[in-house]
Amino acid sequence: MSELLTIDEALEHVLERSRLLPVESVPIDEALGRVLREPARAVVDLPPFPSSAMDGFAVRAAETPGRLPVAYRVAAGGAPPGALPPGAAAGIATGGTVPDGADAVVPVERVEDHGDHVEVLHEATLGQHVRPRGGDVRAGDLVVAPGTRLGAVQIGALGAAGIATVACSSRPRVAILATGSELRDPGENLEAGQIYESNRRMIAAALASSGAEINVLPVAADDPESHREAIARGLEHDVLVTSGGVSMGPHDLVRRIAAELGVDEVFWGVAIKPGKPLAFGVRGNTLVFGLPGNPVSSLVGALVFVRPALLARQGVASPKPSYLRARVTSALRRNPHRDEFVRAMRTEAADGFDLAPIIGQESHMIVRAAAADALIHIPRGEGETQPGEMVRFLPLD
Ligand code: AMP
Ligand code: MG
Repeated sequence: MSELLTIDEALEHVLERSRLLPVESVPIDEALGRVLREPARAVVDLPPFPSSAMDGFAVRAAETPGRLPVAYRVAAGGAPPGALPPGAAAGIATGGTVPDGADAVVPVERVEDHGDHVEVLHEATLGQHVRPRGGDVRAGDLVVAPGTRLGAVQIGALGAAGIATVACSSRPRVAILATGSELRDPGENLEAGQIYESNRRMIAAALASSGAEINVLPVAADDPESHREAIARGLEHDVLVTSGGVSMGPHDLVRRIAAELGVDEVFWGVAIKPGKPLAFGVRGNTLVFGLPGNPVSSLVGALVFVRPALLARQGVASPKPSYLRARVTSALRRNPHRDEFVRAMRTEAADGFDLAPIIGQESHMIVRAAAADALIHIPRGEGETQPGEMVRFLPLD
């Protein structure tokens, strides 16, 4: 057992070999989920002019309260006809340009609007409801830092700061290959000894959110020729993920054929349950992950090792899985040799989340696993976790 790598050691090996992909220019409307590789800097000050945060009247704070003639009214999108004359107010809409001379906006609710003049009822404070020019960001300043995956907020910020295109990582091209002569597609008839294939589509789904461009290859039968052809094709990608065929059986051919095709194996075997016989190698810039065939093992391997590699290749600042913490509701025996990933259901409690392990934790039980929305990580050790103990988990949704 001691020769198995720990999860952290194995992940370090993977990340060390995850070379950066080229950079390309991407219009912001196509950049959701992409990883920024160069700093995105504001084209303009934001707001580009002092703007009103309220519908109301632009005034000089020192001239309030009181009766002020309305010099003009400013809509959003227009410019004031000139500076605010002394002793006057200007009607202004939310987002309208606060005229030179004005230093406060009094909301409509706080005045009596008589058309040609307003009665400002209370004293205004200097700067109230005025958004100063550049208050959010200054032209040339950083809007989004390299290494960030662009989500909704970043896309909005880039647009607001006038940035039309961004320098992003190109997307990793990922081939997904399932091996096994017993595998059939749903919809086909099963003959004796056959089962339905689940891993290719599941791995593709698990990796879709990591920015990968996924190519699902046909299933390879358990003979060297089928393996050779399929793995050779897979090696034309940035990352090849195989499922099955990495254990000790006579039909487990993936490692041998990959080696014949020039893949240097970096490790085989991780102290993890499920998923122990995971193999990892490289050929040139291509990373090769041999995930074990049991469906839950494949899923865990994809989330814990493949996904971080895809993020690292795109230049994500922190590509490792981001664990959350919550309370486990029942005792879980620790495995003395391997870290375990336990499928659990998360429910909201008054002060956080509870994690209830599901019944049916064997690595072939993918349908049982479908009830889970969390993967609890139980580090190897002695004894058991106590009900109510805080544990870390990966969300599955
Ligand atoms: P293997 O790692 O090839 O020894 O496979 C381990 C177990 O997982 C066997 O019961 C296989 O039939 C099953 N298995 C392997 N690949 C898949 C797959 N793509 N979809 C569903 N089950 C699989
Ligand atoms: Mg097999």
